[in-house]
Amino acid sequence: MNPKPNVSFENTEVAYAHKSDRSLRKSCRLYWWMHFPILLEIGIFLTNLGLKLGLPIKGIIRENVFRQFCGGESVKDCQPVIDELAEYGVGAILDYSVEGKTSEESYTSNEAVILETIKSSKGDERIPFTVFKVSGLGDTALLEKKQQGAKLNSKEEKALISTKSRVLRLFEAAFEAKVRIMVDAEESWFQDVVDEWVDEGMARYNKDTAIVYNSYQMYRRDMLSRLKSAHMRAVAHGYYLGVKLVRGAYLEKENKRAHKKGYPSPIQTSKADTDKDFDTSLQFCINNKQRIYFICGTHNELSNTILTELIDLHGMQRNDERIYFAQLYGMSDHVSFNLANAGFNVAKYLPFGPLAEVLPYLSRRIDENTAIAGQSSREYKKLKAEIKRRKDLPKFPKIA
Ligand SMILES: Cc1cc2nc3c(=O)[nH]c(=O)nc-3n(C[C@H](O)[C@H](O)[C@H](O)COP(=O)(O)OP(=O)(O)OC[C@H]3O[C@@H](n4cnc5c(N)ncnc54)[C@H](O)[C@@H]3O)c2cc1C
Repeated sequence: MNPKPNVSFENTEVAYAHKSDRSLRKSCRLYWWMHFPILLEIGIFLTNLGLKLGLPIKGIIRENVFRQFCGGESVKDCQPVIDELAEYGVGAILDYSVEGKTSEESYTSNEAVILETIKSSKGDERIPFTVFKVSGLGDTALLEKKQQGAKLNSKEEKALISTKSRVLRLFEAAFEAKVRIMVDAEESWFQDVVDEWVDEGMARYNKDTAIVYNSYQMYRRDMLSRLKSAHMRAVAHGYYLGVKLVRGAYLEKENKRAHKKGYPSPIQTSKADTDKDFDTSLQFCINNKQRIYFICGTHNELSNTILTELIDLHGMQRNDERIYFAQLYGMSDHVSFNLANAGFNVAKYLPFGPLAEVLPYLSRRIDENTAIAGQSSREYKKLKAEIKRRKDLPKFPKIA
């Protein structure tokens, strides 16, 4: 018999306790707009144009979109949001979300900001993980070339070594600060190189506990077996495997490229297959919990529920350090806050960065919310239900 109550994601009072009436209405309006992808596309286009022309529109974006999905423009800016999440038992994962900058200068400055996130996470329980993307630290075209086995010239070799050094420096800094660090998964055509470096980091720094985590995209047909091989390597070499499980964010790009270049797409043939491998990998990780520390990175209610039940069935403490749930800031609060309220470890990716530079991230979030069937409707309905619940509350408490 399982003595612990099951988690329900229906409780909107718990889900939105951190939100004022005004902020609830604002989020609800934004998710309503997401029912009209065409209007949003036009909005994103006009925003980009407006910013380029120097029109004074930053305030509008900040108020209506940026604040929904981002913690602020700098680590310091994020502090009130980190406090707010912590008040309800939800951790923050500072995610520097500036994308698409491709100069050596920008790689160096990105590394400095990520180092700053490591420093600010040190000894701070409110920030249980740090994260970065290798594409922010080096030229992905070179990683791709390397993965293809093409010969690199000496300049390219040097640039690749610089990128790897940045990655290894971040691992070392995280290890010194005793801060867990995860590496996001990206496109399959350079992911092998990233995996190799992350494996090296794990072998070096995960001897006593998991410091370095890699990400596994279960929309890839080969990912479950890759996860199992990574586990075997960890067993063979005596280190802990740090795993972040996600479904994967680049489905269209992967399929399109495979089609264009005429190779079989690495992506599963259906959503059901992705779901099956995601849930099987949850089972695999928990069955091997003596060796694997893992994060379940999903908004999917069923997968989250499955993991809550597995944790209880395995007789584990709900707040066992080896297992975390994670969602993105501004999305699926009904999942995050209800899980935290039930005693599970939960953290939210908290993107930050200069407003104009996180626009690509914001537009991806909007795309995702409009593309994933039912995502924006689900958010909208939950927010609306909470607005109604608050409206229906008696204005004055009843006198007994
Ligand atoms: C904390 C966190 C960290 C993340 N980190 C990463 C990361 O490092 N790298 C990364 O790529 N993504 C990352 N993501 C994004 C993630 O991969 C998903 O894109 C996103 O979370 C939506 O999936 P879901 O499981 O939440 O929801 P669901 O709605 O259950 O699943 C949607 C996902 O299912 C898959 N899918 C949809 N249709 C099909 C189909 N026809 N065939 C096969 N598969 C299909 C796609 O992956 C799609 O994104 C992260 C997400 C979270 C919450």
